[in-house]
This record gives sequence, C-alpha cells and structure tokens, in this order.
Amino acid sequence: MNAPRPADARVRQCVQRTVRADVQALRAYAVAPAGDCIKLDAMECPYPLPAPVRAELAQALAQVDIHRYPAASNAALQAQVRQAFGVPQQAGLLFGNGSDELIHLLVQTCCAPGEAVLSPWPSFVYFEMAARLDHARFVGVPLTADFQIDPQALLAAIAREQPKVVFLAVPNNPTGSLWPDEVIEQVLQAAPGLVVVDEAYQPFAGRSWMPRLMEHPNLVVLRTVSKIGLAGLRFGYLAGHPAWVAELDKARPPYNIDLLTQAALTVVLRHKAVLDEQAARLVADREPLARALAALPGVTVFPSAGNFVLLRVAGAQALHRALAARRILVRDFSSAHPLLADCLRVSVGTPDENAALLAALQDLLNA
Ligand SMILES: *Cc1c(COP(=O)(O)O)cnc(C)c1O
Repeated sequence: MNAPRPADARVRQCVQRTVRADVQALRAYAVAPAGDCIKLDAMECPYPLPAPVRAELAQALAQVDIHRYPAASNAALQAQVRQAFGVPQQAGLLFGNGSDELIHLLVQTCCAPGEAVLSPWPSFVYFEMAARLDHARFVGVPLTADFQIDPQALLAAIAREQPKVVFLAVPNNPTGSLWPDEVIEQVLQAAPGLVVVDEAYQPFAGRSWMPRLMEHPNLVVLRTVSKIGLAGLRFGYLAGHPAWVAELDKARPPYNIDLLTQAALTVVLRHKAVLDEQAARLVADREPLARALAALPGVTVFPSAGNFVLLRVAGAQALHRALAARRILVRDFSSAHPLLADCLRVSVGTPDENAALLAALQDLLNA
C-alpha cells in the first residue's frame, strides 16, 4: 500500500542515464524459486551430503576464524584439490568463486574491448554474458541441427575472428553433446589465443583433457564442484601452465574464496568417494531415463554425456508450465536459440524424482 515516493522517479532517471544501455536491456539470470518442488532444472546433484560428513563439516566451520581475512596462500587446499581431481603436478591452479568467476577472469585478462570470444553455439549462456559484460565481442558458431560441432564452420570462424579466447564446454551444456578429441585438437592448433576446455560435466563423461594439459601451450581446463554435489559452495578451479595462471591471478579479486568455503571443501574432499559414488549413480540412471523419455509420444531425446538430458517435444513451453504447476521444475530452452526450438533440459534426479517426471509427462502428453 506504499505510495511511490517522489524520489523513486528521480532515482530511476539517474539509473537510466548512468547504467550501460546494454546492461539495462539484459534480463537478470533467472533462478526459479524452488520451494518444495522436484528440482530438475539446474543440474544439481539430487543427493544431500550424508549426515556424518555434515557433522564433520559443522565442527570444521565452528573453528574458522571468520574475523580474519583468508590467508594469501591456500597451499594445503591446492594440494588437496590437485590430488582429488588429478591435476598434473607441473600445472598451476587458480580458484574461483564458482567457475563463473573464472570465466570472467579469462575474458578480462585476455580481451581488450571489442576483441573476440568464440564458442560453438548454443552452449553455456554465461560465456556470452561474461564476454559482453567485459566488453569483448562474442561470436557463437552454430552447431548442426542435431547439436554436433561443425568443424569446418568452427575453424573458419577462428581464422576469421582471431578470438583471444575460445570456450569449449565438454560435454556441452545444454545439449549434452561431447566434442570429438580430434576437433578439439584442431581448435587447439588453429586458435591464435587461449582455448578453455570447460569440464563442468566431466565427472559424468569419463573423459578429460586434464592429463593432456601440459601438451598444448594454449590449453587451460576449467572445472567446478557445483555439478557433483556442492552447488551451494561456489567453488571452481582452473588448471593450466603456471604462465597462464600467473596472469589470470592478477585479475582475481583478493580473497575471492572465503574461509568457510575453504574449510568446507577441505572436509568434503576427504570424502571424495561419496561424491564419486553419487556421480556414478547419476550416470547409471541417465540412460534408463533417456530411454523412458524417448518412449513417450512425440519426444525426441538427444544423447547426453552430462547429468542431464535435452529433449524436444511439440509444445515444450506449455509443457514446462504444466510441469511447474505440478511442482516439477525443468528448464525451458524453446526461446533461447532457434536450434533449441521446443527443447527442454532435465537434470537426472533421484530414481523417485525421475519416475515422478516420467509419470507427469506421460499424463500430460496423453491428455
Ligand atoms: C554450471 C556450469 C558452470 C558454472 O559452474 P559454477 O561453478 O557453479 O559457476 C560452468 N560451465 C558450464 C558449462 C556449466 O554448465
């Protein structure tokens, strides 16, 4: 019932003439309120940490001296991450507040205003967002209609645009496709700048460029713990030659990894086997879910190497709303890109969640 105060209009005018026009035109990254919904829209791990790990976590967090800034060096955590995730000994490591922050650092460090950031497209929307916000020029190279990479188009675009940074999400989000090693090899040879292999979904794909990190002068690998059970922690890491890491580190905000995150990660990584088990369960449940979805009337499922499945179905937008009304959240990509027309992306959930999704879709598609 508050009447608008006269000052609001003046603030809005000031905002309008001050904030970048392209930022004003953006829509903020939409995160649907979850409530008690079945949440299959964000590729989170559906399994919470086991109670004993949580208890250990609580104890560790109670010890944190939160009145102090984080120490300049986190060598112990670096060693732990290196060991847990198979980072080569000679590689440098950089931590980010989620890998989203590292994506920004990569663009900020490499691109002068107007220089190109390139990625096969559609892919992770944040590549484009970060590029634009950081004044780079984003170039998306269209995938084929069945969401495979088009090597000729990609190599031609690299030759034409001379991108400072090429982002390759391997596996790709939101399509689930896995780019062939030979194509990535060709991109590494052709790119004049840095090639970032974003392995956010690597734990579900069973392949990695991490072991080959030091074989290429222009390769860095980006990872996150978000998709393997720790999305709430906000922790990502980049591995690459120390010469790359040294430059990227200059753009990193000081203290970007807070003490609570460091302490929590230290505990959870002692139980890395729990995370691995959860990932293996999701991989095992992926194919049965994909097959059951593909058996529904009018549904096409695309092969996925991630913890999610992309599907196409007529009336995807209405279906997305109808599922939400039944408290099942999936992600609607139908208006995100022409190639994604009528596409929905669903995370692999627990067996019960997958069954609920299938039952709801069955019901809605037969209605
Ligand atoms: C989810 C995702 C990320 C972001 O991960 P955070 O660490 O949560 O910021 C990065 N890259 C891709 C391809 C993703 O899908």
